Order: sequence, then C-alpha cells, then structure tokens
Amino acid sequence: MDYKDILSYVKEEKILFIRLQFSDINGNLKNVEIPSQELERAFERGIMFDGSSIEGFARIEESDMYLRPDPNTFAVLPWSTDGMKSARLICDVYTPADEPFEGDPRYRLKLIVEKARKMGFEPYAGPELEFFILPRDEKGYPKAEFLDKGSYFDLLPLNEVESLRSEAAVALRTMGINVEATHHEVSPSQHELDFRYGPVLVTADNVQTVKLVLKTIAVKHNLRVTFMPKPFFGINGSGMHTHMSLFKGDENVFYDPNSSDGLSQTMKYFIGGLLKYARQITLVTNPTVNSYKRLVPGYEAPVNIAWSKANRTALIRIPAARGKSTRLEYRAPDPTCNAYLAFAVLFAAGLKGIEEKIEPPAPIEENIYHMSEERKSLFKIDSLPGSLREAIEEARNSELVKEVLGDHIFKKLIDLKRREWRDFSIAVTDWEREKYLNC
Ligand code: GLN
Ligand code: MG
Ligand code: MG
Ligand code: MG
Repeated sequence: MDYKDILSYVKEEKILFIRLQFSDINGNLKNVEIPSQELERAFERGIMFDGSSIEGFARIEESDMYLRPDPNTFAVLPWSTDGMKSARLICDVYTPADEPFEGDPRYRLKLIVEKARKMGFEPYAGPELEFFILPRDEKGYPKAEFLDKGSYFDLLPLNEVESLRSEAAVALRTMGINVEATHHEVSPSQHELDFRYGPVLVTADNVQTVKLVLKTIAVKHNLRVTFMPKPFFGINGSGMHTHMSLFKGDENVFYDPNSSDGLSQTMKYFIGGLLKYARQITLVTNPTVNSYKRLVPGYEAPVNIAWSKANRTALIRIPAARGKSTRLEYRAPDPTCNAYLAFAVLFAAGLKGIEEKIEPPAPIEENIYHMSEERKSLFKIDSLPGSLREAIEEARNSELVKEVLGDHIFKKLIDLKRREWRDFSIAVTDWEREKYLNC
C-alpha cells in the first residue's frame, strides 16, 4: 500500500487513531498516538517530537525531531475494538534539516542493507524468540514464580498460557506476520515463538511487533511475558537465535550444490567474518548485565567462538536444510538486544568476512562444554566476553562496531552501558549476603 491507499483505507475502515512507533537505543518501542485526521500531515511533513527525552537520542540544544511513517509497516492493532479502531505505523526519525537522524537504530540497519545491496546481496534474517510467561504480582509486575513444570515441546492441558500463545499467533497473522511455530521451551514457564524469516529490516520491525503483541496479550490474560535472558539460576535462559542468509534475486548465495557440504565459499567467508568479530559485537547482541548469566556452559547457550554443523554448544550452527533454506544460526543474541542494531552488527561482520575473504577455521563437531582448556587452545577456540564489562571493552575498541552504530549511538551506548555496569558492581546482592553475612 502506498500512503494514499492507507489514507483511504483508514477512512473506509473508520480507524480513529494511529500510533506512530519507533525504537530507542535500548530497543524499547516508543509511540505517539495521533487522530487519523493528522495522518496525511504525518506522511507529508512528519510529526515533531522532543528527541532529548528519548534514551540515546538528541542533545537538548537540538531536540526537535520528526517521525516519518513507513507506509510498508501499516497494520491495524488487533486489540483495538470496533468503536475505537487504531492502527500503527513504524517510523523513521528525521532531523529538522530533513535528513535521517544518525542515531535512529532503524536507520543504522538500513545503511547495512544498502551496503549489502551494493555488494549484490539481499540480507535475510529469522529469529527464534524465547521468553518466560510469569504470573503478575499485586502491582502488575512479573513475579519470579513458575506457572507450570513443562519442558521442551510439552503439551499442557488447555490453559491460560497455551491460549495466550495461540491468541498471539492469530493476532500477529492479522498484522501480516506469519507465525511458523509456538511451543513450550526447555525450562518451566518458558516458551518460544518463531515467525517466518524475511528481509532483515522487515524482520527487525517484526521482532518489535512480536514483543509488543506478546506483552499486550499476556496482560489481557492477567499474566506477564519477560524477555530477561536469565531470570532463573540453574535452568536454561532465553535466547534470540538468529538465522541468517544472503540472496541474489531468487537464489540463496549460501547454497552451492557442487560443494561437498552444500555450503558456498561466500557463506564460509561470512562465517569467518562473524567468528572474527564475535567478541566485538557481543555488547550489541547481548547488552545487559544479565545477558552474561545466560552465556555459560551447560544451558544450550553459546560460550565458545566456533562453528558447527550440528552441535548446539557452538556459537554458529548450520541447520541441515539446503537449497533455498541454506542458512546459519547465530546463537548468542538474547531478546534484550535492540534487534535493529543487533542485525546491523551481525550482517556487517558477515559482509566484512566476504570483503576480507576470511576463511573460517574447521567446524567443531564435539561438545565444547566438555572440552578441556588445552583442547580448546589446540583448536584456537576463543570465548565470548564473560561479562558486560568485558563486552564493553571489546566494543569500545572496535572500528567495526563504531562504524555500524555511527558515532552518536556508539558513544551513547558505551556511556549507558558503563553506567549500568557501575550500578551493578556497587549493588549488594542476595548471593553475597548468603555467602558473607556470617563472616
Ligand atoms: N534457551 C537456549 C538459549 O539460551 C536455547 C535452547 C534451544 O532453543 N534449543 O539459547
Ligand atoms: Mg527453536
Ligand atoms: Mg529454542
Ligand atoms: Mg535455535
């Protein structure tokens, strides 16, 4: 639909309000609601807002910014009732000089898509979103208690939680997102939702939409959804494994029917790039203190920088499918990442691999969790950063991360994350009291 079609659709369908959405540096969805009579003006001139009040956005002296709705993202909000129908549009952020704002995460991803296109590729991504569904406390916050004892693929007797998942899938379909599967995950109260892969920008928009829909529908059921990577010690945390491929027209360039493993040289270089830059980009794919509690051995989350054809202890796994479905699965990201920025650094790293012709080491098929340190160093297997602090140091020294995020986001992100680390390091935790109170 172009914007004229949207205007007439909004009139015909008696849509009263439009929510203009965009994302801050942390990946939090923001929005302003406008009555639909204002939509034409929004398309033509943009809607002004105060950028200085958005995390990671403008300086106070130059705070006027404009939202320009992207007509491709028009969707009616599934929970809006007939009398009060609303729709949403995802927006790009512009400066008063009518230039894209360099600190808009969606713009950073668009730049990488442009780069890929210049190299002749169209980047595709498909994430697997994991999350916990938890009860609400009296104030409505998520409560750290399980709702079930379920495990991987368990079928629970028809209950609130299963109907929440199905309701979310139906709602997403009406918004143009094809949910391919939802299922119980390994941990109690843990679930997964997978939707169809697509062009990377559409996929990043979809991640934002899926999170919003899951959270909104959970509240309707008097429940809460959390994307916290490791809410409970001792059981699996929640990841956002990201499947990636490159297409040229209709052809998946990761596929080569003539190679012994069906994987093309282009794909091998792409893997080489991801492995080379993995430590540097982890701040973006795993941006919170808690992210690093998930990246430990024993819980199906990666720790070691290696690739493999089957083994789920490696950072990159190659699913068995070939032909058009040839892809890699990058297993580090967790759902607290800003999907626009995470996909941007991931594709940037892979594309650098192609540019620099980085040959990856041999794939590792044994369980790396069980490998001795000597054996790991024999294979030159490095580890992902072990803490937010280490990840900040890696990113701070990375030309690649700086280039992809742009000076504005790069600086803000490093500042923000340093403060987060400092706050965490001076906090006194339950673990410490347990261990030292008796001293
Ligand atoms: N929850 C695991 C993780 O943290 C993944 C489990 C799975 O999907 N097999 O990445
Ligand atoms: Mg899965
Ligand atoms: Mg999973
Ligand atoms: Mg997976």
